[in-house]
Amino acid sequence: MKINLKALQAEEITEFAENLGQSRYKANQIINWLYKKYASSFTDMTDLSKSFKDILDKKAFISNLKILKVQVSKDGTHKFLFELEDSRTIESVLIPDSDRLTLCISSQVGCAMGCEFCITGSLKLKRNLRAHEIFDQVITVQRLVSENKVRLRQGFYSRKITNIVFMGMGEPLNNLPEVIEAVRKLTGLLGFSKRRITVSTCGIVPGIDELARGRTGVNLAVSLNAVTDAARNKIMPVNKKYPLHKLVQACRKYPLPPGRRITFEYVLLKGINDSMDDAVRLVRLLKGIRAKVNLIPFNEPVKNSGFSKPSEAGVLAFQKVLLDAKIAAIIRKSRGRDISAACGQLGALKWTRAGKPVLPSG
Ligand code: SAH
Ligand code: SF4
Repeated sequence: MKINLKALQAEEITEFAENLGQSRYKANQIINWLYKKYASSFTDMTDLSKSFKDILDKKAFISNLKILKVQVSKDGTHKFLFELEDSRTIESVLIPDSDRLTLCISSQVGCAMGCEFCITGSLKLKRNLRAHEIFDQVITVQRLVSENKVRLRQGFYSRKITNIVFMGMGEPLNNLPEVIEAVRKLTGLLGFSKRRITVSTCGIVPGIDELARGRTGVNLAVSLNAVTDAARNKIMPVNKKYPLHKLVQACRKYPLPPGRRITFEYVLLKGINDSMDDAVRLVRLLKGIRAKVNLIPFNEPVKNSGFSKPSEAGVLAFQKVLLDAKIAAIIRKSRGRDISAACGQLGALKWTRAGKPVLPSG
């Protein structure tokens, strides 16, 4: 069976090349092609001899994500639909800003956690992604960006992905070994700073501890979304297993390097978690934690979801309570809502091969 080179560590590629009677230098050339020049085939590796490429071709292959569709939002957000080797599909979202280019990546096909407000949750878990399927989202999009195939406003945006967030489809802490492996590739071979990588969780407490033990140094984001167990139980089933006091305790223990904070995401749902009392409770809950809060007014993933977002005045009033208590709180603009690329909307539409989106059935 052929070996997938992207599934190997750098040392394993060296070993592989040495077993073929090749030098360490040749191995480094391959590593460079894969991770610095984003080669998608041996043919791309122009400075390797034809005979070496023929040998490589017999023994190994390079896995790639197939781009099925790219959608561009009015605000410049791009949503990519990728096909995996087993024909399942995942999505990634590229969000250009004046000073950063963020890629939001998926860690699973679907998600098992069943948060009531999130469309990805309604897809249920299909399977975990392998590490190479995770970092390949970054490689594939970066390749398009470098080749100018992604239309970003000229001279305005960075031509390089600057930030990576695990906020796409799936619960990264339910697929931790592969996520950690992907993070190691991103930091070790692809050259991303750990400071610019954020792993977001719905609150899998043992996963937070394990992520800390993995010593990746990545940023942690926690989708909090409610401040009483009663309210959180209703919208996030995970809370029944890991209630708020355990979650907050795990956050307090998370080893934060100086100057860094944990991000708490808070989807504002009208009448459910948006009262002034909730805001005050949130302040109390975060006491003593170096925290910043991202307030995300609810995005309607499908019609008649039963949830709605508060008025703009309501959102601002909630934010003010946090700001008055000296908690950094920003209201997250919903980027890419017109192409269903905003938070909680991934997988909202199934896609046909012809590229026509169809609404999910059942
Ligand atoms: N599973 C992880 C990573 C996905 S992040 C997690 O839940 O943290 C997806 C983010 O989008 C989460 O913060 C979630 O709370 C938010 N979200 C989900 N559905 C949403 C919706 N309909 N509107 C706004 N935000 C939503
Ligand atoms: Fe899964 Fe996160 Fe969506 Fe909850 S919010 S269903 S954990 S992807």
